[in-house]
Amino acid sequence: PLRWVLIGASDIAATRMIPAMRALGQDPVAVFSSSPERGRQFAERHQVPVAAGTLEEALSVPADAVYISTTNELHRDQAVAAAAAGRHVLCEKPLAMTLDDAADIVRAARAAGVVLGTNHHLRASPVVRTIQKLVAAGDIGRPLAVRVHHAVELPQRLRGWRLENPAAGGGVVLDITVHDADALRFVLGREVLDVTATAVNQGLAAPGVEDAAMAVLRLEGDVLGFTHDAFTVPHAGTALEVHGTDASVFATDAMTQDPDGEVVLRRGGTGTPVDVGPRDDLYVTGLRAFADAVHGDGTPLATGTDGFASLAVALAVRDALRTGARAPVTPVS
Ligand code: NDP
Repeated sequence: PLRWVLIGASDIAATRMIPAMRALGQDPVAVFSSSPERGRQFAERHQVPVAAGTLEEALSVPADAVYISTTNELHRDQAVAAAAAGRHVLCEKPLAMTLDDAADIVRAARAAGVVLGTNHHLRASPVVRTIQKLVAAGDIGRPLAVRVHHAVELPQRLRGWRLENPAAGGGVVLDITVHDADALRFVLGREVLDVTATAVNQGLAAPGVEDAAMAVLRLEGDVLGFTHDAFTVPHAGTALEVHGTDASVFATDAMTQDPDGEVVLRRGGTGTPVDVGPRDDLYVTGLRAFADAVHGDGTPLATGTDGFASLAVALAVRDALRTGARAPVTPVS
């Protein structure tokens, strides 16, 4: 079983990742926080044996892998250091704040010969995986369009840097649109070529930070994509739709952290429910795939290169917002 060092005394580590690690018999052996007091409290509360005072100390604890869930401007240096220390790296999304930084992380992992994953958990969602399989099997015919509804209400406990600090990756685009981008790329197996977008501040985020955004994407093969992301919409639920020449597929509650949601395949005005299989915890599924990759079997659900490519889409959305023009997506080189 993997021994993990946690970089970041974060909400996601506490609420999702530590429970998922333990469900698989994996072992969080140390946590690093920039605040000794927060680190100690976190270690005590979650029964992590070591609270490391520095990154170097954390990376000297015997372990197999590092899970990085600090704010996004810190991912690059921490991931590069973890790879250089010979640890496999699972990094939160967005992989970094810039494509240069994301490329540095990918390169560092390659140079060290370690596995690099990006924690785009939606690839582990039973409904998202079901849609991916339907599309790949040709059940909807030629894909024409995909629509992502990911406008939610940001939970009270997360109303910090996401609303206030663009330098840490605040704003709905780097927080949520990047997930949509990854889910779209996964479901269609196609890259996004360019985007246009509009965003607003609906009064939740600090002035100048977008808390609601819509983007229109052009994908390979003249497939159109549409995303609606928000921190401000309390009652909508989420959804994912893919429309093809032979059928359309609709999923409710598709863009969540839990294995919820239903999938309906619609042809000629008749909808047929599709069985989504076991409703395993998304984070358990992601960690299982990561551990398999460490043991030489397959790749993480979202690789470092996926993290780069999905970040490239989110950054193109930000470019489009800044310029008001259609923005190209930087391809993976
Ligand atoms: P948090 O705000 O909980 O934690 C981020 C950092 O903030 C921590 O590393 C910690 O620093 C610091 N921090 C935590 N609590 C406090 C506090 N009370 N006062 C001051 N600082 C504090 O972030 P999230 O868990 O929401 O997000 C962390 C990362 O995970 C981000 O990259 C985010 O995008 C990603 N994420 C991914 C999700 C997914 O499903 N894939 C879901 C949620 C987040 P220190 O470590 O130095 O103590």
